[in-house]
Amino acid sequence: MPRPIQATIDASALRHNLARMRQAAGSARLWAVVKSNAYGHGIQRVFGALRDADGFALLDIAEAEALRALGWGGPILLLEGCFGLDDLATCERLNLWHVVHDPAQIHWLGLRSKARAHRVFLKLNSGMNRLGFHPAQYRAAWQRLHELPSVGAVSHMTHFATADGAAGIDEALESFLATVEGLPGERSLCNSAALLRFGADARPPRHDAAAVLGEWVRPGIALYGGSPTGLAEDARQWHLQPAMSVSTRIIGVQQIEAGAAVGYGAGFRAERPMRIGVAAVGYADGYPRHAPSGTPIVVDGVRTRVVGRVSMDMLCIDLEPVRAAGRAAEVGSPVLCWGRDAQGELGIDEVAQACATIGYELMCAVAPRVAVRMR
Ligand SMILES: *Cc1c(COP(=O)(O)O)cnc(C)c1O
Repeated sequence: MPRPIQATIDASALRHNLARMRQAAGSARLWAVVKSNAYGHGIQRVFGALRDADGFALLDIAEAEALRALGWGGPILLLEGCFGLDDLATCERLNLWHVVHDPAQIHWLGLRSKARAHRVFLKLNSGMNRLGFHPAQYRAAWQRLHELPSVGAVSHMTHFATADGAAGIDEALESFLATVEGLPGERSLCNSAALLRFGADARPPRHDAAAVLGEWVRPGIALYGGSPTGLAEDARQWHLQPAMSVSTRIIGVQQIEAGAAVGYGAGFRAERPMRIGVAAVGYADGYPRHAPSGTPIVVDGVRTRVVGRVSMDMLCIDLEPVRAAGRAAEVGSPVLCWGRDAQGELGIDEVAQACATIGYELMCAVAPRVAVRMR
């Protein structure tokens, strides 16, 4: 019998989330963001469920090649653009659209001769100060691109730093609209947070939803059912369904006395006599090592907590609530780390919050040794 840990990818949840994002996008076209191997879900695995998207956005040229090999003939956008001159030939061969965020990339485009071969998204730094041209340099960069023989259409793009928080998008939106004012070209602004909070079905409605949405939106995390705000209740309120579940089983049980310690470093001491379950999942599977005692986990449909330090291949669980609910809580009992199984559900964002991180990181960290199946 293989070690019982398993990740399950739910195609119907992916399709549902894509339909939700379409609603929020109004008439804008939709890039399904599948960077980092579809946020850890696997590009090959999600492709069938997400192929109704208008395009796929990612960073690695190898992932773009994988999509073409799967038969995707539609648009693919490289979100970080080209990393060197050689990549431009690959873009021509695979017909990839690419982001231009730095003068070096414009220089490389100037060295290519094939007429109008490149479809680019010029990126504005609207305040995040990560990638993109400063507003004062943006229009000159657009003019240079526009005049290059190798460049076809030039679109406009920016990325919000605070779409998920109280600061919102107003300042960045104003900077973007003022900078691109009067320039021809399609526009793309929204990640999942902006799309859900300020898109076509925003509550309360925004008078400028059409400007926020532009011609293309770029949701990532919401397609996988994770909350872009980090709050599990937001994912529920937006009717997102978890696309990934990680499950395992109890492989050992200990009955311990009050005051007895659990795990490396004796990081947890029993408040009273208690039954401890040992689950076959650890940080080498991608479960966060810094998950503190108290991190939620589900055994046989009953919500309980991790106790003691997470080790490489195992973690320990308080089985008292499971016993109290009348379940056996024994070797073989099903354990749900996040997602949903036949017995219950646990939001990845709840686990992430307990670990002071975000669902994105947990999804992307699931290790190659974890077997994956489709549901
Ligand atoms: C990752 C990424 C997105 C998607 O962000 P989510 O928060 O996952 O929706 C959109 N645009 C760019 C440029 C990105 O890098």
